[in-house]
Amino acid sequence: MSNVVKASLHNHSIYSGNSASQRCTLERMIEKAFDVDLQILAITDNNSDRSIDLILANSSKMKYSITDFDDRGIIINKKEHELCLIRGAEIFTDKGHILSIGHEGKMCFNKKHDLFDILGEIKDRGGLAIPAHILHTQIGGMKKETLLEIIDYIDAVETFNAYNIKVFPRMIDATRFNLLAKKFSQEYHIPGIASSDSHHIDQIDRAYVLFNKDKLNYSSGKKFVDSIRTSLQNNEFKNYESYVPKVEIMRWILSININPIKKVKNLTNLLRKELLGYFVN
Ligand SMILES: [Zn+2]
Repeated sequence: MSNVVKASLHNHSIYSGNSASQRCTLERMIEKAFDVDLQILAITDNNSDRSIDLILANSSKMKYSITDFDDRGIIINKKEHELCLIRGAEIFTDKGHILSIGHEGKMCFNKKHDLFDILGEIKDRGGLAIPAHILHTQIGGMKKETLLEIIDYIDAVETFNAYNIKVFPRMIDATRFNLLAKKFSQEYHIPGIASSDSHHIDQIDRAYVLFNKDKLNYSSGKKFVDSIRTSLQNNEFKNYESYVPKVEIMRWILSININPIKKVKNLTNLLRKELLGYFVN
């Protein structure tokens, strides 16, 4: 593809409501996106889509200029480099996690979302609906039967999640969920995207989607999101995939709680879940 743009579509900031992403301030994420030459960045916090509004509210303090914006996205410039920051959220539903990318207006979040209500809302607001880390049910991925129920209402599925790795020897090898997701995407002819699911600044370009810039329409937020949807439908994209290194996963696990007792508890829980997964699977 000529004139390629890099789009990282699944990333967490400090507004994800947990301490795991505590170092991912919006300013640092934007800075990092410029450093690694990303052109499109969606911040998809857990049950929150307010990052764009916060950036606009604090734009006078930003060291980069915002050259255009609407309700779905903003264009930030650093000299000749242009970054399109898209509104997004990772929504926890009763049937699993789903990304909403580029929807119009702030969504209303609560503690428990009905998957079908959320799908209706994403569609009404013109966003892209993309189930995250599918088939890996231990971390909120949807089951195959759920995906088949909603397949006509989603724009793509995540077929590569950079966190789906094998953390410990002899334990569940989560890379196989990426393989299963790809198989699902191929079998049911639904576009499959790669994403970082970043919880640390250094991870935002671990995995991303490459689009042809000539196929994207930057004239409005709506047209931009619609052109991404069309590129996905027409298979006019490629994925870049690399895994988060084990050492970073360990650092992430250890960063979840500052309290050392809680750290030990977290690790014990993880080991128990992994062992359970190993024996079940
Ligand atoms: Zn996520």
